[in-house]
Amino acid sequence: MNAETQPNVDLQEIAKFDGLAERWWDPDGDFRPLHDINPARLEYINTRAPLMGRAVLDIGCGGGILAESMAAKGARVSAIDMAEAPLAVARLHREKGGVEVDYRKHTAEQEAASGRCYDVVTCLEMLEHVPDPASVVQACRDLVRPGGHLFFSTINRNPKSFLMAIVGAEYVLRLLPRGTHEYAKLIKPSELAHWMRSSGLEMAEATGMHYNPLTRICTLGGNLDVNYLVHARRPADDA
Ligand code: SAH
Repeated sequence: MNAETQPNVDLQEIAKFDGLAERWWDPDGDFRPLHDINPARLEYINTRAPLMGRAVLDIGCGGGILAESMAAKGARVSAIDMAEAPLAVARLHREKGGVEVDYRKHTAEQEAASGRCYDVVTCLEMLEHVPDPASVVQACRDLVRPGGHLFFSTINRNPKSFLMAIVGAEYVLRLLPRGTHEYAKLIKPSELAHWMRSSGLEMAEATGMHYNPLTRICTLGGNLDVNYLVHARRPADDA
């Protein structure tokens, strides 16, 4: 796909996130699960790629929950998204939080075309919202320096994930607005692994992410049946 003429963006997805943006930082609102899972995923990232002083790019940053928390750990964070309203919310919230994050309206492909390079690239809960996720993975490879770290998270595609992530979360528990996730766009770990290999990335680890909406606790480990998180590396000798 040509990033200049036909950006890898689903405008209906962007409209969805634009419409929800003002509630982004309400810990009990539409993005409650992102607030609740953030400490566990931040710790996972910071343990494998210590963030202090690192140049980090967060792709599909939304209102900035992860981006701000990585900046608070001492990273120099740039964060990109294609939805205007979440970016505006993120910029306002940054003033309150007193952390530095450079927010830009860019696709991953456009950011890669700029030639910038980072120590760590994060792309969490975003791949299942784009028309061509393999192209985002390729852009992530181009955006991370040789030897650098990448983190992806998304939702598996199978009957159990359909029941838990769509029926359970959107219709029964109403944790997320209906229509947040589309079954056909969910991503099997084998598909993500294939796109990473094709881009020249090495899988370091894949781990399940288990969120209990009653206790609001997120634990990592175990099966990848529903939500999962992947740590990958660009080989150090891949110049
Ligand atoms: N990564 C954040 C937010 C996830 S919500 C977190 O985990 O906390 C998904 C985000 O991806 C939304 O903000 C949406 O606007 C963004 N997004 C969707 N398509 C995109 C694209 N093609 N390029 C950049 N961002 C995109």
